[in-house]
Amino acid sequence: MKVTFPHMGHMYICLKAMLRYLDIDIVVPPKSSKRTLTIGTQHSPEFACLPLKLNLGNFIEAHEKGADTILMAGGVGPCRFGYYAQIQREILKDLGYEMNMVVLEPPERHISELLVRIKKVTGNKPWTDVVKAIRFAWYKARAVDELEQRAHKLRPREKEPGRVDELFKQALEWIDEAEDREQLNENLKRMRREFARIPADYTRKPVRIGLVGEIYVMLEPFANLEIERHLGRMGVEVERSIYLSEWINDHLFMGLLKVKGSKEARNSAPPYINHFVGGHGQETIGSTVRFAREKYDGVIQVQPFTCMPEIVAESILPTVSRDFGIPTFCLIVDEHSGDAGVLTRLEAFVDLLARKKDKTGEVKGEVECVDI
Ligand code: SF4
Repeated sequence: MKVTFPHMGHMYICLKAMLRYLDIDIVVPPKSSKRTLTIGTQHSPEFACLPLKLNLGNFIEAHEKGADTILMAGGVGPCRFGYYAQIQREILKDLGYEMNMVVLEPPERHISELLVRIKKVTGNKPWTDVVKAIRFAWYKARAVDELEQRAHKLRPREKEPGRVDELFKQALEWIDEAEDREQLNENLKRMRREFARIPADYTRKPVRIGLVGEIYVMLEPFANLEIERHLGRMGVEVERSIYLSEWINDHLFMGLLKVKGSKEARNSAPPYINHFVGGHGQETIGSTVRFAREKYDGVIQVQPFTCMPEIVAESILPTVSRDFGIPTFCLIVDEHSGDAGVLTRLEAFVDLLARKKDKTGEVKGEVECVDI
């Protein structure tokens, strides 16, 4: 058995750590690229959302490298995520790929439901080892989040543009390479030291933007055209509404671990949205309210074309924007999105926020929604 999984940002680092810890043969799919997207798009229904297409491309590319088993997350609720895995399984079967798919549905009543599902790939490995492997993967997820948060803070303040990106790439490798908790801690210390060495101007007061939207496109740099890096290089401090470890905790661990999750965002959503609309639609609104209360200069919503929960949120954002006076911008991505178009629109939005910051209160919140 050679296990593979979809790419979603840097989640591969955690899954790799967990499966390697248990001595399971794995194939990490090549990072999502134009080729991945072309393959996925070619074999998916036209109106399927971008994550389905990209993940299908991931599976086919992993199969080319010998993978025969897929570990895939499942979902519940009114969005299409709940039947992604089934559709992908059927498409792969029709194309003649012999691949077994193990779907990790979110547990409904008890965390043990998740362990039973994971057991389908871990076989007879003792429970204690499985739990230790999950813990190790969790620490790696936390490490990746810390790295991303440090990069978000430092990019708009670095004195030599590009230094943060270089260190980010290097530090990701350090996290990925760590074989046990001790090594991971050592590598984290090293990462912090190196960040402290980057020449930066801490007197700068950059424009601050909150990033909200559909979880996959928020976490996967290829899908969001590296929006965080681009904004950082434009001098913007970015804060994301949700990080990898928070999503893992919410989605797979029933929110049992003590980390900030989407609960706070959901609580801030009423009266604009009072109930679950699938995906992270409710959190998009709640997080926008939170960013407005925390005096962020603007909010960007990223969503895949045809994403139902984010379309619901998008229709409510103008009201939130008006009520709180916070400008919001909606970026819709699909297989036709291109860097140049995105950059131009981001620059225009950042310019608007910078002017607002200079003359506080002169520019009122408004939504610009761009399908790129
Ligand atoms: S949240 Fe949106 S993009 Fe994600 S699966 Fe649901 S409909 Fe598709």
